[in-house]
Amino acid sequence: MRLIVDLNRCQGYAQCAYLAPDVFTMHEEEALLYASQVGQEQHEPVMRAAAACPVQAILLDRLDERIPEKAGPRGG
Ligand code: SF4
Repeated sequence: MRLIVDLNRCQGYAQCAYLAPDVFTMHEEEALLYASQVGQEQHEPVMRAAAACPVQAILLDRLDERIPEKAGPRGG
């Protein structure tokens, strides 16, 4: 999953760094550092961080992933 933080919107509230510390880090007082590409294991914390951001500055792009097929028996 790719992600972008709109740093013009970001107010440095650090909610994201709290919820997904492996992806978002606060540097100094207000500068946010983040990974622009995250693996599957980080999807949940990143989505929580995006939902928690008070100014909706975290934009996610999941178009580079395949839509998972429905789980279930396949016969055979
Ligand atoms: S939660 Fe939103 S406003 Fe706060 S540091 Fe993260 S991106 Fe910026």
